[in-house]
Amino acid sequence: MLSAAVVVHSPGYFCDIGPHVFPVEKFALVRAHLVSELEIEAGEIVEPAPAPREDLLRAHTPEYLDDLEALRWTHRTRMSELPLTAEIVRAYRLAAGGTTLAARGALERGCGINLGGGFHHASADRAEGFCYLNDLAVAVRVLQHEGRIRRAAVVDLDVHQGNGTARIFGGDDSVFTLSIHQESNYPVPKAASTLDVGLADRAGDEEYLRRLDPALEAVWSFGPEIVLYQAGADPYVEDQLGGLALTLGGLEARDRRVLESCALRGIPVVVTLGGGYALRVEDTVRIHARTCRIALSAAQAGMRRPA
Ligand SMILES: [Zn+2]
Repeated sequence: MLSAAVVVHSPGYFCDIGPHVFPVEKFALVRAHLVSELEIEAGEIVEPAPAPREDLLRAHTPEYLDDLEALRWTHRTRMSELPLTAEIVRAYRLAAGGTTLAARGALERGCGINLGGGFHHASADRAEGFCYLNDLAVAVRVLQHEGRIRRAAVVDLDVHQGNGTARIFGGDDSVFTLSIHQESNYPVPKAASTLDVGLADRAGDEEYLRRLDPALEAVWSFGPEIVLYQAGADPYVEDQLGGLALTLGGLEARDRRVLESCALRGIPVVVTLGGGYALRVEDTVRIHARTCRIALSAAQAGMRRPA
């Protein structure tokens, strides 16, 4: 099943954040879903190491990393809406290691799936929201530093704008950042991505997909050598932190347009989960698992495509 893809997960993605709207149990639940519902053996899922400081420095400042390491509340860490413990910092380092590992796998096989990550609100020098380390930016910068890629695109379809990613890559014309989000939602104000599509409250499947198509065309025109997909589950109609109105079918269509287009064009793609705060955690898990299933079958079909 996994010849065309690498699936990455660590039990350490779970960390104790106390009573919170962020369902950190979802990472293991998505993994369990993939093992029970898809033809994936538990042994095929690879575990990342925590991203080394050297890799984190490609996207974050040393002062900020020092604060995280020392678990210090400063102006750099206090925008976080999570506690700051060694276990939590380790979970974010694991997620950054995981997205980097998935990105390496994508370059080798076509597709890499991190069953975590997508922490797009973290900036170079500070935490924000539920995000301490921007795994998307770390992975892109590490691959660029190693000379494996030059041009990358981040396709961020979380209901919230990918402001941290936009800030990190602002002024860097080697990275195209696309964010399609609910305009009136967090964060306010927004940062400037390469292309921002801000949707009205309660926009549904039809409106979403109509706006997605030309935005993706702009990404393909840029000619990325890899796409990092932040596949947030929170545009879902029953999300507690989202105000869009996508159905499960609409989210599936969204994922297909991104993932099948990458496979068709032979562009390696990395899936990260991003947000997801549905009233029922099973819905969030189902949305993420469906994204993974689509990514796997698109990658398989891409492999079978005649050269
Ligand atoms: Zn979100």
